[in-house]
Amino acid sequence: MIFDLLDNSIASELGVDVELYIETIESMPHDKAEQIITLVWNRESAEDILKAKKLFKQYNNAKCKNCKQQFTPVSFNRKYCIKNECNDLYYEDLKKKAFQKWNKEKKVKKENLQTVQELMKLTQIIFNKWIRERDKGKPCISCGKQMREGNIDAGHFWSSGGHKNLTFNEDNVHAQCSRPCNKDKGGDLNNYRIGLIKRIGIERVEKLESEAHKTRKYTREELKEIQKKYKSLK
Ligand SMILES: [Zn+2]
Ligand SMILES: [Zn+2]
Repeated sequence: MIFDLLDNSIASELGVDVELYIETIESMPHDKAEQIITLVWNRESAEDILKAKKLFKQYNNAKCKNCKQQFTPVSFNRKYCIKNECNDLYYEDLKKKAFQKWNKEKKVKKENLQTVQELMKLTQIIFNKWIRERDKGKPCISCGKQMREGNIDAGHFWSSGGHKNLTFNEDNVHAQCSRPCNKDKGGDLNNYRIGLIKRIGIERVEKLESEAHKTRKYTREELKEIQKKYKSLK
């Protein structure tokens, strides 16, 4: 009899018919049912009752995402009833979600697998773009002429292929005519040096020369830091 009393009083606290209450509570996951009963029985504030009502409603008033009919969910996240057609859709939904998750993980994995070489290339693109931006309006570092839009390279004094230590050195890279200076004249280094001394002074040019042949290997983290730095600088 005590159970009837308990059921009755909880049902009335929840504002539902006792039969509906028992039917729902018996069909929902055990831990959820226990949670509702405990919330009502040991309530410390009106908020506990609201919580219990909300929880109860999730199992009592659920409407199937497909057929729109009321059903009692067998688990909290289940949005479909158990009719064959709806059940199939439920599994399709699950599959879709799993596929999306897998795709996301694949993307992260791919990013992690990016080789240092690939990162190096991308970093150079970002850095070189910044150089062209910095030198906007300045003449070509080697021939001294104004450059045509679309014919501007970020030219390395010490080539980036053989002098990794200076690949991302701002003193070593300047806007230069793509043609002829950079591509046809191999960077026109004699004139580049003259132009460079004019622009940054002999001391800094000599400093570059002293650092040019130091070997340098970049880690992925360093490259990512460089990317971040030159992406944020304007
Ligand atoms: Zn359904
Ligand atoms: Zn030039």
